[in-house]
Amino acid sequence: MSDRPLLNRRLDGLGTTIFARMTALAAETGAINLGQGFPDTDGPEAVREAAVRALREGRGNQYPPGPGIPELRHAIAEHQQRFHGLRWDPDTEVLVTAGATEALAATLLALLEPGDEVIAFEPYYDSYTAGIAMAGAVRVPLTLRAPDFRPDIDALRAKVTDRTRLLLLNSPHNPTGMVLSRAEAEAIAELAVERDLLVVTDEVYEHLVFDGEHVPFVSLPGMRERTVSISSAGKTFSFTGWKVGWVTAAPALIAAVRTTKQFLTYVSAGPFQYAVAEALRLPEDYFTGLRDDLRAKRDLLSAGLRDAGFTVHPSAGTYFVTTDVASLGEKDGVEFCLALPERCGVVAVPNAVFHDDAEAGRTQVRFAFCKRPDVLSEAVERLGRLSA
Ligand code: PMP
Ligand code: GLN
Repeated sequence: MSDRPLLNRRLDGLGTTIFARMTALAAETGAINLGQGFPDTDGPEAVREAAVRALREGRGNQYPPGPGIPELRHAIAEHQQRFHGLRWDPDTEVLVTAGATEALAATLLALLEPGDEVIAFEPYYDSYTAGIAMAGAVRVPLTLRAPDFRPDIDALRAKVTDRTRLLLLNSPHNPTGMVLSRAEAEAIAELAVERDLLVVTDEVYEHLVFDGEHVPFVSLPGMRERTVSISSAGKTFSFTGWKVGWVTAAPALIAAVRTTKQFLTYVSAGPFQYAVAEALRLPEDYFTGLRDDLRAKRDLLSAGLRDAGFTVHPSAGTYFVTTDVASLGEKDGVEFCLALPERCGVVAVPNAVFHDDAEAGRTQVRFAFCKRPDVLSEAVERLGRLSA
């Protein structure tokens, strides 16, 4: 065989995701896994039963329709109207995907030509880097800096060139917990109109805003025809393994994304779609209860990390809190996270791996708080040994 590398050059360096690596490290060492963001308690029993019922009744056991089952597309549209006042046509403006991950990949592959520039907040959620690379496009980071990780709108403006095709937004933001304010979102929307940019907005944590409000980006003036909104059932219903996500957008954008999505998975798992359709219709107090529960967990973990000597940057949303380990005398977050399971039996994720500007995230470390309170308390107790 020739010695040409097997993995194409566009994907050079992507290797195995940091989440998979850290979860494997937790399994190997028996450490508490505050690395990968998944809850350690399943979502509502009624929703799980709905999936079982669909399986038993033979609903979705054969290929469901490519765009998603009508029941789910209608439920997605109703949910968006109930919570955000947005109206979508379930037949032409809603597309069901295999999680937000496929929605992101399908969208980027559909909308980008090789060489197009994509401006995205860094630290980036890992699949953005991969999706942009697979499309042959060029990522342009807008670095969110501690302590508050707010986007610098003037810096964003300066990054737009004639090659910029789209803005890739994420609010609430993984890993920093930053939630865009309405004023920031409006300023970004104005720029998108002025420079005629497409916008892809990842809002998988739309129900997990603890401070402030979630502003659906597409609700802003001029955004309807240029925005692809992405969300997912994983975080909202605590079933991250089900991989049901969706895209909402104007018909022409949906048609473009559907074209690529057809050849990635064609469809996502049928019975789960029936269950998620029921989940989206749960009463309001389910959604506020989930948020309040996670807010309490955020507070528990943040206070414990502070007591353990970490600098804790406030998180206004998501499953995550970003800390700085320089206050513990550490110089490198990656080394710190690799040693942490041995040192005290906890796994976390270094933010540096989500950066092009590695210096900006060098000593930042992300912890997930979507775990049972007793697990968080035990983790905090173990982390307390670091400064003892
Ligand atoms: N976007 C962000 C910001 C995420 O944190 C995640 C992880 N859930 C995803 C997308 C992927 O979501 P899914 O599991 O639905 O593919
Ligand atoms: N979104 C999860 C996180 O940020 C991970 C999902 C995954 O492993 N792809 O931890």
